[in-house]
Amino acid sequence: MLKISNLKVNIEEKEILKKINLSIKEGEVLALMGPNGSGKSSLASTIIGNPKYEVTKGKIDFEGENILSMTSDQRANKGIYLAFQYPVAIPGVTVREMLLTALRAKYKEIKISALELKRTIENEAEKLHLSNELLNRGLNEGFSGGEKKKMEILQMRILKPRLLILDEIDSGLDIDALATIAKNVAEMVKENKMSVLVITHYQRILNYLIPDRVAVMKDGRIVENGGKEVANRLEKHGYK
Ligand code: ADP
Ligand code: MG
Repeated sequence: MLKISNLKVNIEEKEILKKINLSIKEGEVLALMGPNGSGKSSLASTIIGNPKYEVTKGKIDFEGENILSMTSDQRANKGIYLAFQYPVAIPGVTVREMLLTALRAKYKEIKISALELKRTIENEAEKLHLSNELLNRGLNEGFSGGEKKKMEILQMRILKPRLLILDEIDSGLDIDALATIAKNVAEMVKENKMSVLVITHYQRILNYLIPDRVAVMKDGRIVENGGKEVANRLEKHGYK
């Protein structure tokens, strides 16, 4: 599904990712852990094609195709979805309007009507325990941290990506909300053979969204690869 080879990335002339090799198979969950500032979010931004992150070496293949020359929206239309660590607010644009636009951009002949989409969104919102009132506001406008994170998952449910990147979706969530979100994602993985890159500091989310593998990043490099036991060890002993 995803193959990152010898990837080097600069931001403002400074090298922040140093020869990253990482791959995720179809239906596989890979957890990426690592201390603050190690480059996890930078890797997520690079995969989705944020132009601030300059790739100086290596490549990123998605379903066998090098995606580095593609723009972010092209990558998104191919099925890559990034749930942001810090979701942005878009005042004046509701989630419904945004999703309808996104679906119409993705599928030339969209069969879903605005009304059908409204019902689907309401249905998904209910599963996530998100109140209907939020759906009428501008996207993320005045949302709590937890509501923003749930909104990222709601969008994922509708857009049905092939590769989901969750950047610290668990930060700022209470325990119940975390369980709701993680179970929701685990269900999607099972149903659609979706691949997931889950970036986290904590082992807790991995109890629901069980990783096939765990990679640890430090100072722009992958320094360890292993199974779920790596996450348990880090939880106990920290990164030192
Ligand atoms: P993590 O997500 O693992 O905490 P980041 O990828 O956010 O780490 O950051 C890795 C390093 O790159 C940090 O030193 C950070 O300051 C730097 N960095 C990331 N994005 C930017 C940016 N847009 N501008 C300047 N520096 C950045
Ligand atoms: Mg980060």
